[in-house]
Amino acid sequence: MENKKITVAIDGYSSSGKSTMARRLAASVGYRYIDSGAMYRAVALYALEHGMIDAEGKPDSNAIASALPDIEIDFALQTDGSQHTVLDGKDVESEIRRLRVSEAVSSVAAIPAVRKALTAMQKQMGQGGGIVMDGRDIGTAVFPDAELKIFVNASAETRAQRRFKEMVEKGIPATYQEVLANVAHRDHIDTTRAESPLRRADNAIALDNSAMTPEQQDAWLMVQFNKAAGL
Ligand code: C5P
Repeated sequence: MENKKITVAIDGYSSSGKSTMARRLAASVGYRYIDSGAMYRAVALYALEHGMIDAEGKPDSNAIASALPDIEIDFALQTDGSQHTVLDGKDVESEIRRLRVSEAVSSVAAIPAVRKALTAMQKQMGQGGGIVMDGRDIGTAVFPDAELKIFVNASAETRAQRRFKEMVEKGIPATYQEVLANVAHRDHIDTTRAESPLRRADNAIALDNSAMTPEQQDAWLMVQFNKAAGL
């Protein structure tokens, strides 16, 4: 008999390495991987491109809420197995990782109408299980019944260092200080917003990966997965 496909929710702070571990787990067990942060980033990019964010970085909540039905977000599978975020038919994968989007995204993600729309889409994607989704509220709001919930953390400096290295490798312009300031800023908005703030679900397993290599994380996560899936 084939084993039941479970739902895996991986939440945590910005740049905690949760996307990498989520993506790699999904690939090794043959599940679908969804980066929910990319969806919030796509909405933030749309808002930036449509003049819905002012010079101080404050989003126009009403304009963004009214535009939501017109914003189309998809994921396109690449030949190397990775997924690219597609906004209104255009591949925006590298654009949504830029600092201007990182700076706008948490304020956009704090808008209740945005959370409501994206949460509904994410629940839809997870129907039937066999999915690994990472984000901030996956174990608390999107899949409260997920069989496996992980909450990842590492120090702000470790996370900024990792994100900075990644950006340098991808040729995305930024300084370490800018990245560290952005990580701290997003931590603050994500944990203090009124609507589904970032917090560990009561039944989520906490992981501090500051001193772990990606391979050690993969091995740790696979043990948790096998236990949760009853393998
Ligand atoms: O995961 P990533 O850092 O790319 O997410 C970008 C931003 O989107 C986060 O800082 C957070 O403000 C928001 N987000 C969220 N809920 C999620 C995923 C991301 O509010 N489930």
